[in-house]
Amino acid sequence: MIEYSRLEELGQALVADHVPYSEDVIEKYQLKSDDLRFGVFCPDCGALPMVRQWGTWMCTQCGGKSSHAHIPALRDYALIFGEEITNAQAREFLKVDNPQVIKYLLKNMNLPTAGRGKGTRYILGGLV
Ligand SMILES: [Zn+2]
Repeated sequence: MIEYSRLEELGQALVADHVPYSEDVIEKYQLKSDDLRFGVFCPDCGALPMVRQWGTWMCTQCGGKSSHAHIPALRDYALIFGEEITNAQAREFLKVDNPQVIKYLLKNMNLPTAGRGKGTRYILGGLV
């Protein structure tokens, strides 16, 4: 398992190296998909995953709340998997079952989109 600090280091290394998205980051850094822990991390205590409750992210460990905790998670996603994400991929990555919640979160980030309907892809490039 890779801890969050490790992933964050990886993200920073990628930004510093200006690694293009097309490069196979997973292979380059010899990550296995088992190494990647999905979900939104608590910005206060680093616990994973935060749960979506009453329109905000809640930490089950420290009780901390955050309305923006999904943004660094999506930035990590962009660095590791590429700059496009669909609703279904975001549900899996953020560990949220409800597509409406994901749609709300992504729409509120004012991300550029491509495609339509279920195939809509949100472009995360601006986060990186
Ligand atoms: Zn916490």
